[in-house]
Amino acid sequence: MTSAQQDALSYQCPEEAFAGRVILVTGAGDGIGRAVSLALARHGATVILLGRTQEKLEAVYDQIKAAGGPEPAMAPVNLDVARPQDYEALADLFDKEFGRLDGILHNASILGDITPLEQYEYGTWDTVMQVNVNAPFYLMRALLPLLRESDDASVLFTSSSVGRKGRAFWGAYAVSKFATEGMMQVLADELENVSRIRVNSINPGATRTRMRAMAYPAEDASTLKTPEQIVPAYLYLLGPASTGVTGQTLDAQQR
Ligand code: NDP
Repeated sequence: MTSAQQDALSYQCPEEAFAGRVILVTGAGDGIGRAVSLALARHGATVILLGRTQEKLEAVYDQIKAAGGPEPAMAPVNLDVARPQDYEALADLFDKEFGRLDGILHNASILGDITPLEQYEYGTWDTVMQVNVNAPFYLMRALLPLLRESDDASVLFTSSSVGRKGRAFWGAYAVSKFATEGMMQVLADELENVSRIRVNSINPGATRTRMRAMAYPAEDASTLKTPEQIVPAYLYLLGPASTGVTGQTLDAQQR
């Protein structure tokens, strides 16, 4: 186990670790993205909540405000249909509002179908690639200028165990997660030593969310870690504790 991996698993985030930082989370309305957004705000971050379901974003917004956290921002975006120019417009908005960005958690993904490649629906394939690969690329590309304005920025991609070793029937989802790891490695290599932006990926591991229930409908969900339990590794990789760590793929829970 690398030292960064050990640090991620045992991380205890100081109360004000994210004070003054602006962090964007995609898929912030539910599951892991929701839990990480709430935790970031608890530790002082101004969180930009990006997601496709406005009511879910509003519920997270209200929860952050009720807990006395910094006022979050909401970005209702459907990653399936948004085009590069939409992300450029979003970047302009964030620039006017904040002037910089200290982190992105690329968390939103869809599962697609669990079926052999031979029978995989073309349309589903395209949608999975759009949401899981193209959208994070468009978003990251549009936001890089703002990340460069930060003294200590972190880009965190979300992987999966099937993004490290292929598994039958996991189709476009598995392929998209391999692509995610590839995007992380290429970007990390490009930015290392020439910027203050670090780039890593995280595999949450089996976690009690709607996506996991869709993938494993017969599983007893009570045996799984909750999103809240895996938050420390996210805070480690998104915040000041991981300064200097780049190009790594880490696990959010012990394997
Ligand atoms: P959930 O399905 O619970 O949450 C996914 C989030 O992404 C939701 O908020 C959803 O919005 C959002 N989202 C999906 N499609 C779009 C879209 N087109 N536009 C905008 N937002 C969208 O998943 P998890 O929390 O389980 O997954 C989070 C990440 O962790 C994913 O990248 C997943 O691949 C990864 N992962 C999860 C594992 C697990 O066991 N849970 C294991 C390995 C990896 P809405 O709620 O509005 O639908």
